[in-house]
Amino acid sequence: MARTDLPNVETRLYINGQWLDGSEGTKAVIDPATGKTLAKIQQGGKAEALKAVEAANAAFPKWTATPPDKRAALMNKVADLIDEEKDRLATIMTMEQGKPLKQALAEIQTNVENLRWNAAEGQRIYGDIIPAPPGYQWLAEKQAIGVVGAITPWNFPSNMIVRKIAPAIAAGCTVILKPSSETPLSALALMELFDKAGFPAGVVNVVLGKSKPIGEVLSTSDDVQKLTFTGSTEVGKLLNEQAATTLKKVSMELGGHAPFIIFPDADLEQAVESLIAAKFRNNGQVCTSPNRIFIHEEVKEKVSNMIVEQIKEVTVGNGLDDPTTGPLINKSGLEKVAEQIQDATDKGAKILFGGKQLTEGDYADGFFFEPTVIDGITTDMDIYYEETFGPVIPLISFTDEEEVIKAANDTPFGLASYFFSDNIHTINNVSKKLAYGMVGVNDVAISHSATPFGGVKHSGFGRENGAYGVEEYITVKFVTIKA
Ligand code: NAP
Repeated sequence: MARTDLPNVETRLYINGQWLDGSEGTKAVIDPATGKTLAKIQQGGKAEALKAVEAANAAFPKWTATPPDKRAALMNKVADLIDEEKDRLATIMTMEQGKPLKQALAEIQTNVENLRWNAAEGQRIYGDIIPAPPGYQWLAEKQAIGVVGAITPWNFPSNMIVRKIAPAIAAGCTVILKPSSETPLSALALMELFDKAGFPAGVVNVVLGKSKPIGEVLSTSDDVQKLTFTGSTEVGKLLNEQAATTLKKVSMELGGHAPFIIFPDADLEQAVESLIAAKFRNNGQVCTSPNRIFIHEEVKEKVSNMIVEQIKEVTVGNGLDDPTTGPLINKSGLEKVAEQIQDATDKGAKILFGGKQLTEGDYADGFFFEPTVIDGITTDMDIYYEETFGPVIPLISFTDEEEVIKAANDTPFGLASYFFSDNIHTINNVSKKLAYGMVGVNDVAISHSATPFGGVKHSGFGRENGAYGVEEYITVKFVTIKA
């Protein structure tokens, strides 16, 4: 098997343009494929978070007054540097997060696109001139909201960061980032490139360390005007409560439990291929991963057999070897998947393929799980209502269009949903009635630099990407001028 050492990468906090040790010791970053320690990362806490807020606040007036084309030029410089260093960045990501190299490279490439897209959009943040009575001029002026606190998860350890930083700095905001402690190296590798590109001190800052005290500063400081969070619904609710004390603007990109519906008139091959591609992207550890597969009873047996045949082609291994799918992020991720499967089989579900942790040979020290297909899922099973975050395809049959819409909406989550059909009436009806922020019809590619990404219900609020994503970092000021 191909193996490599961790490429050189920073392990310190980045505040006010300086790399700093933290006051709270160090924390190990573990390779989920081998269980080995990759690096020891400096840890900060409340003191460092306050220092970063001060730096971002001090940098804001000059950065927001920097002409948009100059801000764009710096952002494009970072995009160029990322492109030049994509192999190094992808290797770091694969080693700390586990995803196959090809997927890591695709994520890095998305960063390049996001930066360039937002750099351009930042130059098109127009306001409005509102028809006014004679002798007056009425303006709706768009201004950067101010200092942004950004907290990100481990599943897309680089792109979840760029999705927030790129629109924020394009709009003229300054940022304090707190990345996941599972995957800080990708965040630090990115920061190295912001530094190298020549970003002014304090425009982007990274605080590493215990999430609670850092989160408290970012969500309750009056010097932070916007909090943007991607992560679990549980932590999102807590941060939202904390942020309410200072009434700051908030965006929440939270958990999902996507339905994937296959109607009998669908192109079944396309549906199954899309399902496998979406499910095994990042080993199912994606907020938009298909988690409840509803198949019309007329085609249920045929489609189940097709899924089992295709899943046999899915390879599992160390992401550096570029298998279809890698390990899960950690032991608790592994245990959650095993518990959901145990609970489902205890209540009568039947495993059609896989179902176990992989523990032999090269798998022995990592967090690997077999690609799994499980049939006969019912509403009394945990897997029906809980986000899965693993390589499990749970099958449910249905008979009627309205019945399946109701079942698909029977969840507190509302992020991504998918269905496959060739019937125009079904397409029209179902896409309107699915209570989700995103609907993929005969398509699972629902995330692009130009299109709005986000959820409803307990999946959160606010949108990332596209013009809607930039709006999250803007406030509208009304100016009336009397002649
Ligand atoms: P998580 O446990 O909620 O952690 C997310 C981030 O919040 C991490 O940086 C974590 O830091 C931090 N955090 C944890 N507790 C905190 C607290 N009390 N105060 C402030 N920050 C705190 O989620 P995760 O396990 O990393 O990510 C998986 C979840 O993210 C899934 O539910 C997934 O659906 C969701 N997700 C949603 C989207 C979307 O766009 N809707 C995209 C990707 C992922 P530490 O790591 O240091 O604890």
